[in-house]
Amino acid sequence: MLYDFDLYVIGAGSGGVRAARFSAGFGAKVAVAESRYLGGTCVNVGCVPKKLLVYGAHFAEDFGQSQGFGWTPGEAKFDWATLIANKDREINRLNGIYRDLLVNSGVTLHEGHAKIVDPHTVEVNGERYTAKNILITTGGWPQIPEIPGHEHAISSNQAFFLKELPKRVLVVGGGYIAVEFAGIFQGLGAETTLLYRGDLFLRGFDGAVRKHLRDELTKRGLNLQFNANIERIDKQSDGSLKVTLKDGREFEADCVLYATGRRPMLDNLGLENTGVTLDRKGFVEVDEMYQTAEPSILALGDVIGRVQLTPVALAEGMAVARRLFKPEQYRPVDYKMIPTAVFSLPNIGTVGLTEEEAREVGHEVVIYESRFRPMKLTLTECQERTLMKLVVDAKTDKVLGCHMVGPDAGEIVQGLAIALKAGATKRVFDETIAVHPTSAEEFVTMRTPVA
Ligand code: FAD
Ligand code: NDP
Repeated sequence: MLYDFDLYVIGAGSGGVRAARFSAGFGAKVAVAESRYLGGTCVNVGCVPKKLLVYGAHFAEDFGQSQGFGWTPGEAKFDWATLIANKDREINRLNGIYRDLLVNSGVTLHEGHAKIVDPHTVEVNGERYTAKNILITTGGWPQIPEIPGHEHAISSNQAFFLKELPKRVLVVGGGYIAVEFAGIFQGLGAETTLLYRGDLFLRGFDGAVRKHLRDELTKRGLNLQFNANIERIDKQSDGSLKVTLKDGREFEADCVLYATGRRPMLDNLGLENTGVTLDRKGFVEVDEMYQTAEPSILALGDVIGRVQLTPVALAEGMAVARRLFKPEQYRPVDYKMIPTAVFSLPNIGTVGLTEEEAREVGHEVVIYESRFRPMKLTLTECQERTLMKLVVDAKTDKVLGCHMVGPDAGEIVQGLAIALKAGATKRVFDETIAVHPTSAEEFVTMRTPVA
């Protein structure tokens, strides 16, 4: 049978654009549908605008610290509307780049909501298109629990477009988004509280990292409330929000931001017209080749709920393009040693196993840790400390994990990830000459294990 396209991609986000462009580059006839914004979550309401806001929030401390170096900064004033307008301009520019990338690589772009009508047919804007394969890359969407008054809360999607900086912000959640936005709001001058339902936020990160960040955020004046969750939110006559916790405590806020995880975006996608199955958590079920239970339909990225990070969606997109149209170049995605950063202030950077994970899977471990006040701060009043930690296998000497909390942790960990992926031992770290004076050199100068 002759199809309109070899591949029809639904969703022009990180994974979809990568798969579409490379498939077209390998000679396939490809279309992509996008209902909302080119570049998807990462470009529009994720990584990129988030990082721009984090940069914005960082200036407050730079101005303060500059005085130790002899500067007398003028009165610092912050204008939220300027930051948001400049951010929007940059995102518009990136949307244009994504459009060019697709069109120049020969991909047909359909702007509209795509619905799967049968395993080989997609409907967009009333038109039907047939394809040998359909790829679902529809990403995720914020999930807010339906507590009374949840309609008064916002998600990260709205946080990027607030008309003004709220004076008092309450952030709910203890994952990446909650911790990053708490840092953004607090850095920009809002009185900020972070509520997390468990004992300590950032479940899954190394215990030392979680405690270190807790202590640093507390020093900065962020109001951290653990073992706390919201019972209800009531809008008051002056427009402010009264937040009642399950334990009866009450908070007042101008903005409540829920960052309590993301669900797969499957709204009106037409999966009922296919044999595609979902896993226990509602994500699209795929095998190791990203094939769903419906032979002609594949899925990757956030919608399969494996590792919700842009570089992972990109790698999966590349793998699918090769698998379908350049099988001789196919290489499976290696999910081990995925480096990641939390752009909190200060940053977390991490790659490999946490101490807890290493012990759990049976490694006998040697732990190296360094906590220090970075040189840049020695002329300032700032008491922030940096944490660096290595988890080493006692038997093989292999470095199993590197963890850091401190300025530029994400930048530093990217290089370490290469070493870990190459199987570097602690001895290789020790024999590596340091770059001096830097913070990063601590990673190659730690000699004494912690007891
Ligand atoms: P997406 O990028 O979400 O793309 C899906 C696209 O599909 C969207 O454009 C959507 O409009 C479209 N779509 C959905 N349904 C349809 C339909 N039926 N028809 C047509 N189009 C449709 N990751 C990092 O690595 N680093 C970070 O710093 C980082 N920061 C983040 C910050 C925030 C606030 C958030 C929310 C996420 C962040 N992420 C970060 C995660 C990252 O954004 C995602 O992992 C990544 O975007 C997933 O890519 P994807 O291709 O699976 O989906
Ligand atoms: P996460 O899954 O990381 O965190 C969700 C948080 O919300 C957890 O602390 C969870 O608690 C808590 N939570 C879940 N349900 C409830 C509830 N009903 N009431 C109260 N708390 C609740 O999700 P995020 O939304 O922060 O981010 C989604 C994903 O996007 C991340 O996992 C990450 O993969 C990606 N991302 C990556 C970034 C980066 O690379 N820098 C930045 C932002 C996002 P508990 O731990 O107890 O389950």
